[in-house]
Amino acid sequence: MSKFDVIVVGAGPAGLAFARALAGTGLSLAVVERQTRESLENAAFDGREIALTHRSVAHLRDLGAWDRIDPAEVAPLREARVFNGRSPLALSFDTAGTDADRLGTLIPNHCIRRALFAATKDQPGFTLVDGATVKAAGTDRKGAWVELSDGSRLEGRLLIAADSRFSAIRDQLGIGARINRLGKSMMVCRVTHEGDHEGVATEWFDHGQTFAMLPLNGHMSSAVLTLPSHEIDRIAALPRDALGQELTRRYHRRLGAMQVVADPQVYPLAVTWSRHFAATRAALIGDAAVGMHPVTAHGFNLGLAGAVRLAALIRQAAARGRDIGSSLLLRRYEAGHRLASRPVYDATAMIVGLYTAEDPAARLARHVTLKAAARLPYIRHGVRQLLLQH
Ligand SMILES: Cc1cc2nc3c(=O)[nH]c(=O)nc-3n(C[C@H](O)[C@H](O)[C@H](O)COP(=O)(O)OP(=O)(O)OC[C@H]3O[C@@H](n4cnc5c(N)ncnc54)[C@H](O)[C@@H]3O)c2cc1C
Repeated sequence: MSKFDVIVVGAGPAGLAFARALAGTGLSLAVVERQTRESLENAAFDGREIALTHRSVAHLRDLGAWDRIDPAEVAPLREARVFNGRSPLALSFDTAGTDADRLGTLIPNHCIRRALFAATKDQPGFTLVDGATVKAAGTDRKGAWVELSDGSRLEGRLLIAADSRFSAIRDQLGIGARINRLGKSMMVCRVTHEGDHEGVATEWFDHGQTFAMLPLNGHMSSAVLTLPSHEIDRIAALPRDALGQELTRRYHRRLGAMQVVADPQVYPLAVTWSRHFAATRAALIGDAAVGMHPVTAHGFNLGLAGAVRLAALIRQAAARGRDIGSSLLLRRYEAGHRLASRPVYDATAMIVGLYTAEDPAARLARHVTLKAAARLPYIRHGVRQLLLQH
């Protein structure tokens, strides 16, 4: 049996950011991850292009991860436009009237994961328990424990669940969650194209499909197609040439002919909201707390903000010689993170509700909502502030 101050389950981006944010506290940390050290060190391309807010970039800089990301992989997001069906109407978000040069920044997810791991791996007090799955976990007023697949046991003063939106640790802690499996899947696929995207991301709520294009460097974008899961599986299985033609046709040649340059990846969509973000000597971070729909690109941004928030409270308690797992500290984290997450989660749920419905009334509602939003500067301003600051 091994003892640590903090046990983190999951070395995804949220778990690693949290561990890194505790650097210099003198606390001992065990991060348990079912993947191997090698697959964290050289995280494979997974098709996700993460739109980071300015605040997230600042957090990654503070964590020493930003400078480890290859600048050639960093792409500016200058404007976002929303289209509905065949209507030319676009709701547009840009930086006009602000001193920002971009709305956000796009980075491949595997680059963020590699950079966070590289920043964390040699940190004093950090122990990676890799290739190990947590089979059981529990806490009481005195401490926390986890049991691993090989039968070994770790003990700590605080347990952190960073084990994805289908968190088994959340279940073991007896925390319920609202889980909504949407029956749709998102296919992400890097393409090159004839036209210039000019740094503009588009989200097109077409009839029967949602098609987003995220601008990468050069004449390259990430095509993001959302359809019922069985249809996506058929399209993702097409040979690259045929897939390029299918995407070109579905996007109405707006950027000319597309060529597929990386294998497509498919993500079944499910959104989750945990009823609590904390329990006795335990907290949930990242997707384990809030599993956002990717449409508003806020999952990791929120997860990172929460991880940094919790680590700051623990850092303060450790510096003052106080209990790092006190219920007061954990409730403060929970209250702050719920307050920050709820509006984004609810706004995203509203958008998802509007765009997944296909009946004529929903289509009309979508049209009216976008038209109203286009005319009401405070709505555009509110969304833009969310992108710029969150
Ligand atoms: C297509 C797509 C596009 C996205 N785009 C954006 C975007 O533009 N902006 C944005 O902010 N977010 C975006 N997101 C969301 C973002 O990718 C997630 O929020 C983020 O990856 C969650 O990180 P995490 O560390 O909480 O969880 P995960 O990445 O799911 O990591 C969990 C880790 O826990 C490990 N684990 C699980 N169970 C156990 C166990 N029992 N024992 C040991 N280890 C375990 C897993 O192996 C894994 O490594 C997108 C998501 C998708 C699918």
